[in-house]
Amino acid sequence: MNSIPKIVILGAGYGGILTAQNLQKKLKNNEADVTLVNRHDYHYFTTELHMPAAGTQPETKTYEKISNLIDEFKIDLVKSNVTAIKPEERQVVLEDGTLSYDYLIIALGGDPETFGIPGMKEHAFSIRSINSVRAIREHIETQFKEFKKDGDETRLNFVVGGAGFTGIEFVGELANRLPEMAKQYGVDPSKVGLYNVEAAPSALPGFDPELVTYAMDTLTKKGVTFRIGVPVKACDENGVTVGEGERIEAKTVVWTGGIRGNHLIEDAGFEAMRGRVKVDEFLKAPGHENVFIIGDGSLMIGPEGRPYPPTAQIAMQQGERVAKNLIATIRGQQTEKFVFSNKGTVASLGKGEAVAVVAGKKIKGWPAAQLKKVVDARYLFIIGGMGLVLKKGRFL
Ligand code: FAD
Ligand code: NAD
Repeated sequence: MNSIPKIVILGAGYGGILTAQNLQKKLKNNEADVTLVNRHDYHYFTTELHMPAAGTQPETKTYEKISNLIDEFKIDLVKSNVTAIKPEERQVVLEDGTLSYDYLIIALGGDPETFGIPGMKEHAFSIRSINSVRAIREHIETQFKEFKKDGDETRLNFVVGGAGFTGIEFVGELANRLPEMAKQYGVDPSKVGLYNVEAAPSALPGFDPELVTYAMDTLTKKGVTFRIGVPVKACDENGVTVGEGERIEAKTVVWTGGIRGNHLIEDAGFEAMRGRVKVDEFLKAPGHENVFIIGDGSLMIGPEGRPYPPTAQIAMQQGERVAKNLIATIRGQQTEKFVFSNKGTVASLGKGEAVAVVAGKKIKGWPAAQLKKVVDARYLFIIGGMGLVLKKGRFL
């Protein structure tokens, strides 16, 4: 190893930004060279993407330049696409070069999991980045415009595949936005169909049943048609086939059926389950003392024997722990195991409505919606202080 260790962080999402910020806060000059690689020069707030996807929040409120979040005197920011990870050679291949490292933190997020459903990859949208949600919003607008020209009513059907948290939060926003768009384009709102199709016997599988009922009742009143216990079997440019061959004709299908780890992880030869690597208590990839995997690419089993769901919450805590442990390692000090502290779950159901479980307490309706706003603003405060909270127009 060189006298100054090289730390490379891949991905500037929740895990990557928190790692970089915690390193820059605590590392002394010349203790390490830190490089942060991200494909865009901005960090987006994935937990809010359902809003710009539906058009209920401007994109500009949903991302921030990375250079405003880190100190570039301390962290070398590289805007590039990672194309391969070579752990045996301690190298990362970028679209425009190669980086070598002594310590690597993989925080590249996830890819949509389509379970090999025919046509899903080719014909459905997914909510993963600013670019992907811009495409969804523009496509929806196009359907209203084109309907005015050709009268094809299947343009007014919108299918969301999967009623996990992403699916539910997105249909909540669409349920607000579609009637507004119908009015804007002079379309009879009764012609608009919004379908949320879920394979499991319940929406939000595993979540508190009383809150699931509340969420479904609220969204049903807002115009969502739920198809529960009905798997999506295939997707094409004219809609989806569900259950026993039933068709829902639609020109817009958004797949929210789950995620897997970023494909670069499996491509690199790490042993993975649905692209996620079962990391040890120090967040290291098995057999790799100097490779840490955090966020959606990592898998950790909780005390109940089930994997923790991949969330921003856990990614942030992992980023903080990895940074602290790296500094301790460089200084020859003791490292600490990662322990997840679950702060609860808050899911939005569109304007003024949400459900939450915090400290074992159930919250629903307007108070839960306010809590959601606080959680979103708190994140901005953590990464960018009050300046970022105000810049993004929260609490104004
Ligand atoms: P990400 O935040 O996805 O960041 C990955 C980064 O890597 C991105 O910046 C990306 O551009 C970059 N990247 C990817 N590939 C490459 C490449 N090849 N080269 C260079 N850069 C690359 N979780 C919660 O805890 N609470 C919530 O309320 C919540 N709401 C959500 C709402 C929605 C609509 C969605 C989709 C998810 C939500 N989640 C929520 C889940 C949460 O967003 C993810 O678990 C979290 O983003 C994972 O963080 P991460 O750091 O692993 O990856
Ligand atoms: P998910 O895996 O949690 O949910 C996917 C849903 O799609 C499941 O309910 C699943 O049964 C369903 N599904 C799978 N195959 C299907 C098929 N063929 N037909 C119909 N339905 C099918 O994925 P997600 O909702 O994208 O969430 C990903 C992660 O992000 C999770 O860990 C989640 O907790 C987290 N998240 C959290 C929040 C929040 O806390 N507010 C919001 C969004 C996402």
